[in-house]
Amino acid sequence: MNDKKIPRVKLPADARLDTLAVREGLPPSAWGENSEALFMTSSFVQPDAATAAARFANEEEAFIYSRFTNPTVMMFERRLAALEGAQACIATSSGMSAILLLGMGLLKAGDHVICSRSVFGSTIMLFGREFAKFGVETSFVSQTEPDEWQRAVKPNTKLLFAESPTNPLTEVCDIRALSVIAEGAGAWLAVDNCFCSPALQRPIEYGADIVIHSGTKYLDGQGRVIAGALCATEQLVNDKFVPVMRSAGMSLSPFNAWVVLKGLETLSIRMQAQSARALTLAAWLEAQPQVERVYYPGLKSHPQHELAMAQQSGSGGAVVSFVVKSPADGGAAQARTSAFHVIDQTQVCSITANLGDTKTTITHPASTSHGRLTEEQRLGAGITQGMIRVAVGLDDVEDIKADLLRGLGTL
Ligand SMILES: *Cc1c(COP(=O)(O)O)cnc(C)c1O
Repeated sequence: MNDKKIPRVKLPADARLDTLAVREGLPPSAWGENSEALFMTSSFVQPDAATAAARFANEEEAFIYSRFTNPTVMMFERRLAALEGAQACIATSSGMSAILLLGMGLLKAGDHVICSRSVFGSTIMLFGREFAKFGVETSFVSQTEPDEWQRAVKPNTKLLFAESPTNPLTEVCDIRALSVIAEGAGAWLAVDNCFCSPALQRPIEYGADIVIHSGTKYLDGQGRVIAGALCATEQLVNDKFVPVMRSAGMSLSPFNAWVVLKGLETLSIRMQAQSARALTLAAWLEAQPQVERVYYPGLKSHPQHELAMAQQSGSGGAVVSFVVKSPADGGAAQARTSAFHVIDQTQVCSITANLGDTKTTITHPASTSHGRLTEEQRLGAGITQGMIRVAVGLDDVEDIKADLLRGLGTL
């Protein structure tokens, strides 16, 4: 949208992130509302037929139809772009549809993608199965070994796709190193920034070309709506993604955009508070005799602790995974029974696969978020039957410790 026609809110050019998080958007309407307006309208009235024709032909910029232009959605896009340090953003109906838009915008039959083996389960399905139907080939490589990405590069490699930290193992990739490989390959680097959000990590600063978001998680932050977004340069958004959005319509509804827009206002303080609680919980879990291993980037025991601290503003994020100890001869079935026991003894944590909520959630990744993968794909991603993921919310962390101890103490 042309900035001259629809100006930004007049903020000082050097306004800082916390200020942008509560104010970046569009000017208020003629009524002067302080809280952003929710424009629940599918279409916009045009002054006359000739103007309508010019606007539909992209000769004049204006709001036309909410599949691709809506003021509330645009406020969310501008605010998220500002937080990510991106020129532009395009909002989508879900995190997965942001990745669908990414693929439809950048790839064609015969192209090759390199993707971390440890990304979100549905992302593996989308690249490995759905895009494969249209002749796009994907190589899955190690999350943590940039050399493997380099070796996977082919002449037709168009896209490198990473997520950091990953779900549920919290493995961290070196975004800067991947961006160097992408540049050498003449490919784009896309990073799914769901787990850190721009409050902790801004992938564009490390050389990523595109940032993917599931707005469903920390951006909303209260588990209310499904939403997604893709941040990139204005040129990429306008040339590659807006045309696909206009034709394919994976649009974010104005209502959901409004919810996530308001969620961004508290993103930073929620991320700080939830990460602090997660660190406390992770350190406590590491000291429990019934816990075999804890995965949390904020712990010194995490293999990429130093990289994570440098890349994530010194924070480990709010997701902690751990493996419950079970008898070595019990095998996978016993490990699963033990994990289910710990989950089922909770009284505070919500048993749900969502994350990024103010309510702490607990889940068994092997049978939920990663349940559609084959056992081989699952083990390739390092997800075992004894593993539990806790997405720490704003509950009192002492209540969460007590909640987990109910099961751990009775194994
Ligand atoms: C949840 C999630 C997605 C998908 O987002 P939806 O909004 O559920 O479609 C993508 N990536 C990561 C890392 C996620 O956690």
